[in-house]
Amino acid sequence: MTPRRVRDIEYLLVPGNQRKTTDIVIERDGTVVVRPPAKYTPEQVDAVVDSKRLWIYRNLAEWKDLNASAVAREWVNGETFLYLGGAYRLALVSGQDQPLKLKDGRFCLSREVIEHGGTDAARKAFEQFYVDKGQQRFESRALFFAPKVGVDIADVKVKDMGYRWASCGRSGILNFHWKCMMAPPKIIDYITVHELCHFHHRNHTDAFWNEVDKVMPDWRERKEWLRKRGASLDL
Ligand SMILES: [Zn+2]
Repeated sequence: MTPRRVRDIEYLLVPGNQRKTTDIVIERDGTVVVRPPAKYTPEQVDAVVDSKRLWIYRNLAEWKDLNASAVAREWVNGETFLYLGGAYRLALVSGQDQPLKLKDGRFCLSREVIEHGGTDAARKAFEQFYVDKGQQRFESRALFFAPKVGVDIADVKVKDMGYRWASCGRSGILNFHWKCMMAPPKIIDYITVHELCHFHHRNHTDAFWNEVDKVMPDWRERKEWLRKRGASLDL
């Protein structure tokens, strides 16, 4: 998809919005995505984007601020890593049976992992830890919330989702990013409920948020937490 440009705003035009209004979002990678009503011409979309440019500038500036706080990671003793909202210090240990364990309030990383594979291997060990823990937690939380939302799920997968936190497929499969496991349980629950509600509405209309609200009345705070702190959930 080639981006369109209005003044100095570059945006991606995504067709297929069944609504009467244009949906403009700043994605986690900083891309401006615009979903206009299906019958709009590209020129009409340009005009809408132009009329919303102050909002777009403000949100892009905020996105830059939030991402300036992204993590620069060192793989040394004492460095902290997040898990379920808590910060745990890293300890390099010898003779451990697994590459990485959370034990006695510390992330114990086998020294051999770094010695043989360097920081790439260390990163992989953490990713695998979050994938394994995430698989258990998201399965159990999705099974807990699915009847409350009134939907059936087919499967839960935890993997690298790029700049997305989660997605839901049409066949009842939920996908979650392993990075979600760094967030507090309340936020993980919000991400779960959010995706489950997409089985009812594949958009972010009022009807969608109304479904979220039925199950999780304080969703706004949780959504705001994720918007503000999401960039810090990284390796
Ligand atoms: Zn959504």
